[in-house]
Amino acid sequence: MALLAMTGVRKAFGNHVVLSSVDLTIDAGQCVVLIGASGSGKSTLLRCANLLEVVDDGVITFDGRDITDPRVDGDEVRSRMGLVFQAYNLFPHLSVLGNVTLALRKVHGVPDAEARTRGLEMLDRVGLAEKASARPDDLSGGQQQRVAIARALVANPRLMLLDEVTSALDPELVGEVLDLLGELKADGVTMLLNTHEMGFAREVADQVCFLHDGRIHESGTPEQVLGNPTQERTRAFLSRIR
Ligand code: ADP
Ligand code: MG
Repeated sequence: MALLAMTGVRKAFGNHVVLSSVDLTIDAGQCVVLIGASGSGKSTLLRCANLLEVVDDGVITFDGRDITDPRVDGDEVRSRMGLVFQAYNLFPHLSVLGNVTLALRKVHGVPDAEARTRGLEMLDRVGLAEKASARPDDLSGGQQQRVAIARALVANPRLMLLDEVTSALDPELVGEVLDLLGELKADGVTMLLNTHEMGFAREVADQVCFLHDGRIHESGTPEQVLGNPTQERTRAFLSRIR
């Protein structure tokens, strides 16, 4: 069964329809990459998956449950997802380790000593064990984004949602973050993300979905969608970004 399944999802802001008839499924362990021009609805799709936006129509199931049911506790659903944005939003007054363990302690109720152990393990996993007591401002942008990813991963989410996590980085720092995402995929972490990094999509994605005006116009393997697109709109988009 799919870990996350969106069926017929529609979302409008006022009379501006931002997502319509979106069908998308992600199996455990898969990496699904959303591509599309700015404004095509990629971030809104991630926010709907996370219940930060309430969908107008359609059903989203996560881990076997309909999370669009109004009785569902959004905070509880979000606690099983890890969300990382373009802007890493680390707390500047906390150490790197403090940032990584804050939600574990405050939201998940993990005792301090255990949170510390898990936080240090997670920092080791993202290659930043030696930065545990540093302040975020002393780190490069790429390192800060790896801390933000560690912070999202430390609670063992079932699904990681990543919204253009390399877009704010200087070009020379993009690779270290994409390499980390590739390692997470190899470790079996399930990811739904949007990016303009087509090389990453080609190498790591199981499935690529092309959004245009809030609709998934084409989806399939990277070979199909990036290598041999059947839709004119997909071809036009790809030719613009290459
Ligand atoms: P993308 O991430 O692909 O650039 P977005 O999902 O951010 O696209 O936005 C899709 C469209 O929805 C845009 O036209 C944007 O202006 C609009 N939009 C996004 N969020 C809101 C909001 N909270 N209120 C009104 N319009 C919004
Ligand atoms: Mg966006």
